[in-house]
Amino acid sequence: MKVKFLDLTRLHKSIEAELQSAMNKVLTSGKFLQGEELQKFEEEFASFCRAQYCVGCDSGTAALHIALLALGIGAGDEVITVSHTFIATAEAIVHTGATPVFVDIEPETFLIAPDKIVEKITPRTRAIIVVHLYGQPVDMERVASVARCHNLWIIEDAAQAVGAEYNGKKVGTLGDVACFSFFPGKNLGALGDAGAIVSDNPRVAELSRMLINHGRKEKFIHQLPGYNYRLDELQAALLRVKLPYVTEWNERRRNVVRLYREFLETYPDVSELIKFPKEYSGAKSVYHLLVVRAKQRDELRKFLSLNGIETGLHYPIPLHLQPAFQNLGYKEGDLPVTEEIVREIISLPLDPLMTETEIEYVCKKIKEFYKTQRI
Ligand SMILES: *Cc1c(COP(=O)(O)O)cnc(C)c1O
Repeated sequence: MKVKFLDLTRLHKSIEAELQSAMNKVLTSGKFLQGEELQKFEEEFASFCRAQYCVGCDSGTAALHIALLALGIGAGDEVITVSHTFIATAEAIVHTGATPVFVDIEPETFLIAPDKIVEKITPRTRAIIVVHLYGQPVDMERVASVARCHNLWIIEDAAQAVGAEYNGKKVGTLGDVACFSFFPGKNLGALGDAGAIVSDNPRVAELSRMLINHGRKEKFIHQLPGYNYRLDELQAALLRVKLPYVTEWNERRRNVVRLYREFLETYPDVSELIKFPKEYSGAKSVYHLLVVRAKQRDELRKFLSLNGIETGLHYPIPLHLQPAFQNLGYKEGDLPVTEEIVREIISLPLDPLMTETEIEYVCKKIKEFYKTQRI
């Protein structure tokens, strides 16, 4: 038996006719940028997030870059974020001219440790980027109280968390501005690169809309030097097909995780060796990834791979130890929780249409591995 890490082909098969017809519609419309599909998608996505404004753009990375610029962040500023995230979070900070300042995470949730933010604040700190990693929202009340005290903006990196909820509110409206990625493998994925900026702040939305489109509001007049970060009609049309399914797909993801837990918890020895992330009260994760902590992680991965099971690593080298950020002066030992967990994490296969048979097979193989290891 083979179990893919994420079977997008299977997912797309289930809505193939609708995707085809959306592509055809754009093809025959002859309009490929700044058209009706984009406008409608922006309205529909804002409404999905229960937010005032949505500005489509061409990647999650672009969304982060523009959100920071729209808040006026630039050279000389510091932005606090986590080291345990995808590199785009920090790249966006660097590309505004600001400096990323990395803070450690909490070991049970893999999310930013709100208690450790204060010690990183300096007179130059302007903002905090919270990352709703693996689909679980950050404990925003704890972050917001720090941000309020020190007059800092809050930016949500919601790339992995479309549809996730915190105390009944959707991510996208929990800070000053939120950034989404529609990279194909994300919970709402385009068939290429795409992203969005979401906010309730009209000024942020207006500036973002100008910045992604060469700094203009109207043709021929450029208010400021901007970028070409536009979301195209084809991707917008495809995203509009998928958006109505996202809530159901997210529920299915949660169900897959529930089954993983049930199967693995029936093996008493294994539940000591595999630790699931803690879903704290008030948080509703959409499980973009199922990342668990596993003893003998590398050997387990190899064993699963030999048995036809694909797994992932998100992410094996934290940002503060990446060659790209060497100039920031971090060294091993600076973020102990981050450094400890990156050696233990493994991402298990997860997609909305995964079958019970596949989940059971993965769990059986995990059990088999630990039996032969005699830990
Ligand atoms: C995917 C991702 C991004 C970047 O999104 P792209 O659309 O690939 O540019 C940013 N942050 C996080 C946490 C992500 O997972």
